[in-house]
Amino acid sequence: MSNNVITVHFGEAGWDRGTQGVLGAGSRLAESLGGELIAIVLGTASDELRAGLSDVANQVIVAEQGLTEYQPERALAALQALCDGKNAGAVLLANDTYSQEITPRLAHRLGGSSMADAQSVSFQDGDLRVERSAYGGKATSVYSMKQMPAVVWVRARAIDPPERSGVGGAIEEATPELPEPKIRIVGREEEAQEGVKLEDATIVVSGGRGLGGPEPFESVIKELSDAIGAVQGASRAACDAGWVPPNWQVGQTGKKVAPELYLAVAISGASQHLLGMGDSKVIAAINTDPDAPIFKHCSFGIVEDYKNVVPLLTEKLRSA
Ligand SMILES: Cc1cc2nc3c(=O)[nH]c(=O)nc-3n(C[C@H](O)[C@H](O)[C@H](O)COP(=O)(O)OP(=O)(O)OC[C@H]3O[C@@H](n4cnc5c(N)ncnc54)[C@H](O)[C@@H]3O)c2cc1C
Repeated sequence: MSNNVITVHFGEAGWDRGTQGVLGAGSRLAESLGGELIAIVLGTASDELRAGLSDVANQVIVAEQGLTEYQPERALAALQALCDGKNAGAVLLANDTYSQEITPRLAHRLGGSSMADAQSVSFQDGDLRVERSAYGGKATSVYSMKQMPAVVWVRARAIDPPERSGVGGAIEEATPELPEPKIRIVGREEEAQEGVKLEDATIVVSGGRGLGGPEPFESVIKELSDAIGAVQGASRAACDAGWVPPNWQVGQTGKKVAPELYLAVAISGASQHLLGMGDSKVIAAINTDPDAPIFKHCSFGIVEDYKNVVPLLTEKLRSA
């Protein structure tokens, strides 16, 4: 029976929240299937990543040679070889761009089925079930995956980290045969990033077009963010206007975040924005328009001009 579960990790992500989310989904699924959890790392695995995976997985396989730089053909060849013969009912990946690219191709190579953007993966009544958000988060669709292995990328940061620990799975180095790279990387531009990544933040404060320009992002919104240890984000409208860098964008075509608290300031709550932050634990909003769609999706909302609310909130939170 195909009752083992494989989780796939890229070494460069390290022991981040996404890695822990995939591992959490994998460990719970393996337990309900009554199988083993096998974690595969492509690229260089830090000591922290090795320790974190081995604490939860029954087996950790690290394939570094020829895989330190992402090349889809090589990553696929390595995964095909390493997943072979493992009796995997499911192969879970995170929601990084590499994983999104290779998920359907890996499913094809393994003769399985593929699913993208899963909010949850479970085993129920003999079926592997995947839940996905539909209609911009207004509905949830549930799929039953019949063709094993089910190769699925999950909304890793929104999924709880593993509960189990102390497994002490053996760590094995692997050197699968790899094809010559078909793509040559001629340049690389690293995203400028200081401090905690937007995707890993516990609190996100995002601003939208209603802020009226770049200045509030550098003053009132920054002051509030600093006071509560939040990372700043933005709507696409604010990014497109050039008020903040493009890598601040949250949404369908931006970053997917799932913090404990997401505060949307002067953001209407378009479905494309909601797709990037709808999994946040608590959503709060400040908007002058009582009919703004964001209010249908938040736990706390203030109908008011941000200029009258944000400085007061910052002062209160600072003194608290
Ligand atoms: C294919 C596609 C992909 C997209 N991807 C994304 C994406 O990834 N992320 C994203 O964000 N959008 C995305 N969009 C754009 C999206 O549809 C919206 O246009 C965008 O999110 C709107 O940004 P906004 O809420 O800042 O602006 P608006 O919709 O203009 O909203 C501004 C809000 O500010 C409020 N406001 C005005 N003044 C104040 C004030 N003084 N105080 C408080 N509130 C005030 C207004 O009431 C209003 O609700 C995408 C669109 C398409 C077609």
